[in-house]
Amino acid sequence: MKASILTVGDEILIGQIVDTNSSYIAQRLGEQGLSICEMRSVGDTREAITGALNELFAASGIVVITGGLGPTKDDITKQTLAAYFGATRMALHEPTLRHVTELLGRRGIALGELNRNQALIPDACEALLNLAGTAPGMWFEKAGKLAVSLPGVPHEMEYLMANEVIPRLKKRFSLGKVYHKHIATAGIAESTLAETIAAWESVLPDYLRLAYLPSPAGVKLRLSCYAADAHTSVADEVEKIYLRQLQALIPAYIVGYDGDTLESAVGRLLKARGATLATAESCTGGRIAALITAQPGASAYFKGGIVAYSNELKVKELGVSPSDIERHGAVSQAVVEQMAQGAQRALQAEYAVATSGIAGPDGGTPEKPVGTVWIATATPDKVTSRKLNLGNDRERTILRTSYGVLNLLRLALTDDNNAR
Ligand code: ATP
Repeated sequence: MKASILTVGDEILIGQIVDTNSSYIAQRLGEQGLSICEMRSVGDTREAITGALNELFAASGIVVITGGLGPTKDDITKQTLAAYFGATRMALHEPTLRHVTELLGRRGIALGELNRNQALIPDACEALLNLAGTAPGMWFEKAGKLAVSLPGVPHEMEYLMANEVIPRLKKRFSLGKVYHKHIATAGIAESTLAETIAAWESVLPDYLRLAYLPSPAGVKLRLSCYAADAHTSVADEVEKIYLRQLQALIPAYIVGYDGDTLESAVGRLLKARGATLATAESCTGGRIAALITAQPGASAYFKGGIVAYSNELKVKELGVSPSDIERHGAVSQAVVEQMAQGAQRALQAEYAVATSGIAGPDGGTPEKPVGTVWIATATPDKVTSRKLNLGNDRERTILRTSYGVLNLLRLALTDDNNAR
């Protein structure tokens, strides 16, 4: 069954906001076996919305719409859909009015005209109560066409997708089952990974599709089966045959499966041995600490970190030798290793990671161009360091350095595991 996605908003067209709603909705619908045939963004006008609906309905039976429901936007999407589906009047949706009154009441705000209007919905649709916000979603269905209209605010849209739209779609249509298995890898480039697993990939059965999903954290592999109900044993076959073969091919590069990330894998390994971690960050400016503390339960293993951006702080807080800074520069193996050991000492942790690099765009030299980074990890027994050459995109360098050192730590932790 085919669906399409329509996002409404002038801000999208002028590039002021990035349309993340479409990608979220496409993923959720894809998981239910719906195939997305088109995504489109239009401005806040009746003509643009109606024109898009006509064309999208020519190719698909379902259109999911976000945006243009705000009280200040003249409810342009609501009015247009009401006309499109032949509504005769606006009807008060009591549950929304009660919810909005209570929500505003808790914040000490009296219900205004604009908010009351949000509870008025066309009689041609079913309202979807939005407990994450004020504007309800709307479900319009007529003559084989289904339009679902959701607020543009991402967390409200996500709430309605999960709690109202997907359950209704499941009830309304007999959707095929889709199976996905994600394999997170780190420390191997996409092309090298593709070459290493080429023989394995070439003998995968026809019903399994493989996708490479690269990001600064590493390359994720996704195995998908889009007619999983026809292969009831697909999960079993993947786990018992294809994953085992893959594990044998690239054991050191596999970080984990499905929701696993480098930061969650490192957390799990540290927790398993009851060990603690500290960070000493220069060019990453605290990003590693932020990644680690975004994990629930990080307090069980994360002691804290020192952002030692200046040489002065590297010396004072981490005990780096001033003469080594003088001789080798702050971006050097000697300094990054001393930073890691300094963090271990200063924060009394068994493990530590450190970074020092030139994120750019300025500060490069012929010997150390922008993107030159040193990373290190210190364990109770040894210090390991590595030089990275990451190019001149500052944000990407910060991210790739952060994930690079988390991967170095993961390898040190798994090495330790194997040695035990
Ligand atoms: P509400 O009724 O809750 O005010 P709305 O339906 O009117 O929401 P818009 O006014 O179009 O939605 O957008 C509200 C905000 O939601 C935007 O300023 C933007 O931050 C975000 N937003 C809207 N559309 C998208 C989108 N397609 N992807 C990501 N964010 C979006």
